[in-house]
Order: sequence, then structure tokens, then C-alpha cells
Amino acid sequence: IKRIGVMTSGGDSPGMNAAIRSVVRACAYYRAECIGIYRGYQGLIEGDFVSLTARSVNNIINKGGTILKSARSDEFRTKEGRKKAHENLVEHELHALVVIGGDGSFTGGVIFNKEFKFPIIGIPGTIDNDIFGTSHTLGYDTALNTAVEAIDKIRDTASSHNRLFFVEVMGRDAGFIALNAGVGAGAEEILIPEEDLGLKRMLESLKKSRRAGKSSSIVVVAEGDKSGKNVYELAQYVEENLPEYEVRVSVLGHMQRGGAPSCFDRVLASRLGVKAVELLLDNETNLMVGLKNNEVITTSLEEAIKGGHAINMELLRVSDIMTT
Ligand code: ATP
Repeated sequence: IKRIGVMTSGGDSPGMNAAIRSVVRACAYYRAECIGIYRGYQGLIEGDFVSLTARSVNNIINKGGTILKSARSDEFRTKEGRKKAHENLVEHELHALVVIGGDGSFTGGVIFNKEFKFPIIGIPGTIDNDIFGTSHTLGYDTALNTAVEAIDKIRDTASSHNRLFFVEVMGRDAGFIALNAGVGAGAEEILIPEEDLGLKRMLESLKKSRRAGKSSSIVVVAEGDKSGKNVYELAQYVEENLPEYEVRVSVLGHMQRGGAPSCFDRVLASRLGVKAVELLLDNETNLMVGLKNNEVITTSLEEAIKGGHAINMELLRVSDIMTT
């Protein structure tokens, strides 16, 4: 393997640039060429390539987003599209691919590898942390810190006005951000997709905290929580049932996807990028690199896309105790 392609695909996350840098520098270290592919699989289909040297990735370790851009490609879901992608790889004499993305990107990679026997290694990059085979995905730690910082600010205004705030954080299918940011920011209640605690319980808990003399409260809600109500409906429900509360809603949204990556994400990206290149140079393929007990590990891409890892329910218990 002499020429390795690198791309970012699906939703972007902080730390993707640090991972690109790591892949590029590891290639340079091992005297392999590195080619950047713009806009994920769509750029692969269109042959949108750029040659990257160790110096092309100066000053990006600290930048959010991705210099290679990211995209979702419907064309890559078709056999025709994937055939075009493969032709471009052959034409540019690329021998292997590092895909930085989420489970959708890995699913595409697995299918592509099956069809063309093209070597692929995945690096998990998504803020949701919902990928099996790693305790942390790239960007998750940064997103958590961003969410906590934002909730801290909301708490200031909530307590000045004796208000109850519903804060929605990202996480369509996974409550990692909600649960950890909720505990980290001292939320009164945390609603996550993995566990439906019921709305009655939430009302009871809010009543209890009023009785206990708390003047303001924060409820952290994951986008995909299972209460059956969106965050605005939740707020309305509480206002109807607990008129003593003045309720406000704040949806943190895409700010959680941006910003300078945390030190943790930069270190993780550097480690995973090096490992990805080393695996390819050892003729390994179809693996995802990840972190477990602070060791870099590998998982087959097939396994990685089967599902996320379990959320730490101990944290819910801790959160309960903290709201006493
Ligand atoms: P995120 O978790 O942030 O959403 P992701 O990598 O899961 O990131 P997706 O949009 O699901 O994001 O997938 C990215 C791209 O991977 C898709 O736009 C498509 O090009 C490719 N892809 C996903 N699923 C398949 C599939 N079944 N077959 C072929 N390609 C796929």
C-alpha cells in the first residue's frame, strides 16, 4: 500500500481535522502518499481529490469542522455510484481508504469493501458517541463541554428569574450528551432515549424540588427522548400541571457540533489516525479503530455498525441522588 485516501463523511464533529492531520502525518512518516477526498463519498464519485503533504495540515489540530468538507451522498447508495467511486480510486492509484464518520459512513464502507475488495479503515467521528467498539467517538467530549458551558449560562439567567428551563441537547438515538452534560451541569431531571421514566415522575421530581426550596431548575432533554413530546410540548405540559413554574425552552442545536476540539478529542484523533494508517500498511482492512480503557483497539466494521454501546445507568442514579 503506497497511496492512502482520507475523507470525512456524514455529520461533522470537532476533532475531524485533528484526525485528518494525524492520518496525513502518519502517511508521511511511513513514506506513503496521502490523498484527501473532498465531501466524503460524493467527492469520491466526482474524483474531487487533493494531494496532502505533512505541511498541508499545519494549524488545523485546533480547528472545528473539517477542511475536507463533509457530505451525504445518495449516489453512493447505488451500485452505479459506487462503481464510479471505484473507477476514480483505480485511476488515481489509491490503494486504501480511511473513512472518518459515523455508522452510516461505515455501512457504505462495508458494502464498498464487499463489492470491490477495497481496503478500508474507519475512524469514529460523531458527537453522539453512539458507535459500538469505542468508549469515545471524536467530537463527543468537545460537544459535552460545549453543552455544559451553555447550560451553565442558562442556569445564571434561570436562577435570576426563578425559572424552569428545558434545555434540548443533541442525540437522536443516544442519550450520552444529555446524561453526562446533565450530571455535569447539575440538571434537575435528564430525559434520554434509552430510558423512559415517565412524565409523572418528572412532575413529582419538580414538585419535590420546589418544596425543597429550589428556586430554579434545569431539565436536560435529548432530542430523541421517549416521552412522546418534543421539548416545547414538554414545557407546555409542565406549565399546565405545575402553574407555579414559569417555564422556558432553549434548544442548543448545531453549536454543539462546532468549535475548537477539546484536548481529549485532539489526543484521541492523533492516536486513532496513526493506528488507522499502521493497520492499512499491515494489510489489515474492514476495521474501525476505537478506544477502550484508554487503549486503542480495533473492531470489525460489521460489528461497529450493528449498534451503539450501553449507556451508563449508574449516572442516572447519581443524578437522582444529586437532586436531593
Ligand atoms: P452521523 O452519525 O453524523 O449521521 P453518518 O456517517 O452515520 O454520520 P450518514 O448520512 O448516515 O452519516 O452516512 C453518510 C454517507 O454514507 C451517506 O450519505 C451515504 O453516502 C453513505 N451510506 C450510508 N448508508 C449507506 C448504505 N446503506 N449504502 C451505501 N452507502 C451508504
